[in-house]
Amino acid sequence: MTWLRPAPRPQRYELGTGARVDTSDLQLEQASRLARKCTRVLLSDGTLAPPDPASSHQVALRLAALPPEAQKQLERARLRIVVLDSETPPRGGYPGKVLGSPDRWEEGLGAQYHYQRKEILMPRMYLETPFSGVGDSLLHELGHALSDAKVVDRGRIMSLDDDPRLLELFEAYRQRCGFKPPEPKPGGHDFNQPMLLELERQEEAWSLYAVTEPREYLAEGLSHLLSGGEKKEKLASQDGQLVEYLHDFLIAPTRGGSPFGLWDPRPERL
Ligand SMILES: [Zn+2]
Repeated sequence: MTWLRPAPRPQRYELGTGARVDTSDLQLEQASRLARKCTRVLLSDGTLAPPDPASSHQVALRLAALPPEAQKQLERARLRIVVLDSETPPRGGYPGKVLGSPDRWEEGLGAQYHYQRKEILMPRMYLETPFSGVGDSLLHELGHALSDAKVVDRGRIMSLDDDPRLLELFEAYRQRCGFKPPEPKPGGHDFNQPMLLELERQEEAWSLYAVTEPREYLAEGLSHLLSGGEKKEKLASQDGQLVEYLHDFLIAPTRGGSPFGLWDPRPERL
């Protein structure tokens, strides 16, 4: 059995400055180095192992879609990507108890970015989804991680998720989709399902999940943009202003340090 997938054709995208970036062999090489450095595989005894070649290759393909400077920002933020196998849940619970109850390991395991730990928790089954033409879980989580890495600290915890320009675009998107806030429900709201029925004009939604929160709007946008194919085309035709925003976002410098992570011991055992 061969684990490695062939490298995708070079992706091209315009940055806000008009510069052009290709996913060249050199860029993939740089991404491969970072992937080996930041990826770990969670074993059933709760320890973290260096990545197997298949995992680090899949991570590298996604990292290579980012501009070099964005890759460096993630490296400086000491991002860690933890690959999880649904067949081998760690004895004694989940990483940092952030994934809910143990019996949800197989049916409810989703990718997520953990802000305090600077970690992307990445189920292997999503990592192995072919990297082309579909929304991509890891690119989505990298959107959260990048947003966190570019934190603006003006005396309070503030990230680019709170950027007024992003909030404006998000509200305009909700308006176009005919979003109506759902009725409050006892026990809280499930963001994945009922709210989606509150859209009057679903055809305007390039991503249903993007209506939920500004940070998801950003992460979904980045995933669509960098995945390429039909998703990117749909995004570009329906939300060109977000594409412009994302180009600027990708090359935006880090402004200040994240208030998290400085004290985080980041143990090798979860
Ligand atoms: Zn998300």
